[in-house]
Amino acid sequence: MMGRLYVESLSGARIFKCKYCKVDSASQDDIVSKDFQGRYGKAYLFRHAVNISLGPIEERHLTSGLHTVNDIYCSSCQQILGWRYERAYEPSQKYKEGMYILEKERMLKEGW
Ligand SMILES: [Zn+2]
Repeated sequence: MMGRLYVESLSGARIFKCKYCKVDSASQDDIVSKDFQGRYGKAYLFRHAVNISLGPIEERHLTSGLHTVNDIYCSSCQQILGWRYERAYEPSQKYKEGMYILEKERMLKEGW
């Protein structure tokens, strides 16, 4: 494995992979909501994601109000996959803190 990036594999039958390099990104078991809008269309909210790297922290006005977020990138191929909620300011949005938005358009369902 020398010189190669460590890639984490998820267990379970229903795994979403990075569309570009096919490493695991998240498990269907960790979907909190499928009712989100990303930059590229539909997006899913996950409580957990793997093989991602975080971009710089920034304040962003989303349809549900002001949030502190980081864009997230595939740690293997560096494609942007979505964003992570660092902080929500509206009490009704606090549940999203620490969760991940993955763009449906950037995910691959392989074998299911
Ligand atoms: Zn990738």
